[in-house]
Amino acid sequence: MNVYDSNRMADVLRPLGYEQTKSADDADMVILNTCHIREKATDKVFSDLGRLKVHKKDKEKDGGQMIMAVAGCVAQAEGDFILERAPYVDMVFGPQTYHELPEMVAKATKSNGEARIINTEFPGDNKFDKLPEEQMNTGVSAFLSIQEGCDKFCTFCVVPYTRGSEYSRGAKEIIDEAKRMVDGGALEITLLGQNVNAFHGTSPDGKSIWGLADLLHAVADIDGLERIRYTTSHPRDMDDDLIAAHALPKLQPFLHLPVQSGSDKILEAMNRKHKRDLFFDVVERLRKARPDLTFSSDFIVGFPGETDQDFDDTMDLIRRVGFVSTYSFKFSARPGTPAANMKNLVHDKVASERLAALQGLINEQQVEFNRQSAGLTMGVLLDRRGKKEGQLIGRSPYNQSVFVEADDSHMNKLVDVYIEEGFDNSLKGRLKDKTSTQEKAV
Ligand code: SAH
Ligand code: SF4
Repeated sequence: MNVYDSNRMADVLRPLGYEQTKSADDADMVILNTCHIREKATDKVFSDLGRLKVHKKDKEKDGGQMIMAVAGCVAQAEGDFILERAPYVDMVFGPQTYHELPEMVAKATKSNGEARIINTEFPGDNKFDKLPEEQMNTGVSAFLSIQEGCDKFCTFCVVPYTRGSEYSRGAKEIIDEAKRMVDGGALEITLLGQNVNAFHGTSPDGKSIWGLADLLHAVADIDGLERIRYTTSHPRDMDDDLIAAHALPKLQPFLHLPVQSGSDKILEAMNRKHKRDLFFDVVERLRKARPDLTFSSDFIVGFPGETDQDFDDTMDLIRRVGFVSTYSFKFSARPGTPAANMKNLVHDKVASERLAALQGLINEQQVEFNRQSAGLTMGVLLDRRGKKEGQLIGRSPYNQSVFVEADDSHMNKLVDVYIEEGFDNSLKGRLKDKTSTQEKAV
């Protein structure tokens, strides 16, 4: 979502004469768009700021000015602290305020570093209504935010505090944006939200509320769009219509469905409001709708009170579902969240061991899945150059990284690839003769 947000900030700044640069050396303004989800992400902000300060000083020595800004959720949560600890930062603004950038920049440039701006209120107006049409060439694989914020208040999570309460954009606005992305060359769109399947946006005729399933059907009707994905979803919001929508050929057979833990006790302490059995049930129903569906998930290990037995339950759940990839983390106490005050902390060494065991297991499952992919033909959306000359890389429908020998004429195309070999983290394939659509592949 920060990638999407950064693109939209560039849209707001372009009319003011700013354009994106590749490096900070010659920039007139640097914006760090930050993430507050775990402690490590937050620490990174301060080390990045320290590095960037050097460029600012250089610029000022030559009589110039470089505005330094911190945006995103660290700005939202720790705005005052940033201004205090980093006196060279000119602007601090939260994720719901970037439509106000022109006013903020005007103040910061006029004062030449005298006035420092902090903007972390949740504004009364909605940024999506105020933003200019997106202009970024979002590329062949584009992100589109449809929902933001969260009302679920899992006990470990800062999102409800930093992104604010749940908000869904209107369906018409989203479909129009998706069409513009396709006109601009996108073949794949990933619909984004912190809780994307809690989406409940006004229907295009304004008369009803659409869920994510309705939106997926409408987006799938866009000619020229080949692939759809969505992330991140919550198991409790997988309703019947959404499960059935997984039969849509354009919706890719790979679903990121975070569960966090396989222990009922820990799920309850996390306030996830469901038990492990609900997760198994959802997975089973999804696989009925789309038999080749593969799953990835998020896990937190070392949540306060997690015993060996609780962790074993998580490992058991991973085996039973057969996840092929994961984002997994040690619990990180976040200021202001209920879990930060919980007792029975798990020793860091134990948490590290559990994390390694969990990642090892999912890695085994991933390798097995990659090996089984050999001999199949899949649609691959080639969008990057490989390390070796004459090599292009893209994603399979199951989100695997696939590399093939192909010249640049195949770049940004969805092509049929015969998979020759599966490795730990990637697949090696060769081009089939013709490019074709997803429906024909896999
Ligand atoms: N809405 C999604 C997750 C959004 S946050 C859901 O409900 O599952 C992204 C991921 O960051 C989470 O799934 C979780 O695994 C991780 N995360 C969030 N807070 C964390 C914390 N305090 N410590 C460790 N990991 C955390
Ligand atoms: Fe955070 Fe997701 Fe829980 Fe919302 S549902 S509080 S975003 S982990």
